[in-house]
Amino acid sequence: MSAQILSGKEVAATVRAEVAERVARLADRGKSVGLATVLVGGDPASEVYVRSKHRAAARAGMVSFDHRLPQSAGQDEVTDLVGSLNANPQVDGLIVQLPLPEGLDGNRAVEAIDPAKDVDGLHPYNLGLLASERGRLRPATPSGIMRIFDHFGIATSGKLAVVIGRSLLVGKPMALLLGAKGVDATVVQAHSRTRDLDDLMRSADILVAAIGRPNYVTGSQIKRGAVVIDVGINRTDSGLVGDVEFASAVEVAGAITPVPGGVGLVTVASLLANTVTAAELAAG
Ligand code: NAP
Repeated sequence: MSAQILSGKEVAATVRAEVAERVARLADRGKSVGLATVLVGGDPASEVYVRSKHRAAARAGMVSFDHRLPQSAGQDEVTDLVGSLNANPQVDGLIVQLPLPEGLDGNRAVEAIDPAKDVDGLHPYNLGLLASERGRLRPATPSGIMRIFDHFGIATSGKLAVVIGRSLLVGKPMALLLGAKGVDATVVQAHSRTRDLDDLMRSADILVAAIGRPNYVTGSQIKRGAVVIDVGINRTDSGLVGDVEFASAVEVAGAITPVPGGVGLVTVASLLANTVTAAELAAG
């Protein structure tokens, strides 16, 4: 038996259509929606991510502002640029592309962003709201994964969800969202020090892999019929692969997200949804 493929393309198209409609409604009120990015240095992967955000923003009818600082920029330059974008009324959403070059503090850069414009949802204020289940701007990747569950009617209540990874970007907010009231999964957060991870994985009804290790989870570690969400994006000699070995996992799982074509596409769409939310809140 082969698993249901949870197509990120399909979910992203739905989210993007909703976003375009909301952007158009704001335009009717004379309000444009603006997304600004700050990229420090020339990391090639970050360049690709930033380009795809601008392309997606333009397709959704948003205005986007692409700000670059040289590799040699100091922390104060980053803070000053963020400050000027905070003050710019045309900018509704503001992203500092992480990681920053060595010597710069990504946390300080994120904390300089006005929480009302923090469309990555990484400012401690927004993470605090998320923990108290009142988050409006929620980190794009886990929030996109929740959209995948909704879209495909995947039940979460009472299920055992094992989230591998505890980053602020993915693992931690994912665990908060899955365990929130109304979603009601029982969540285990695993990481590199977790003992008996194999047993945990085999008991998971929902398995989220956000590890950053190519093909780390294989079919033999997955419970038959489980829902497998592969967050990993790993560039290898044989192309882009996830944290889950797709070929073996697809034979055991009940449903699975592919890489590419899964979570990554929904992440970008969720970021646009956050940006239009920020613009709607700003417009009142
Ligand atoms: P990260 O900050 O490096 O975190 C990785 C997590 O995995 C850490 O918590 C780490 O544990 C844990 N881990 C590492 N090796 C492990 C092992 N052998 N067993 C169990 N846990 C282990 O990475 P991230 O930012 O969360 O990203 C994770 C992956 O998702 C990467 O491939 C990234 O490219 C991808 N990603 C994709 C999207 C998307 O849109 N699809 C978005 C963001 C990230 P410790 O905390 O103990 O070190």
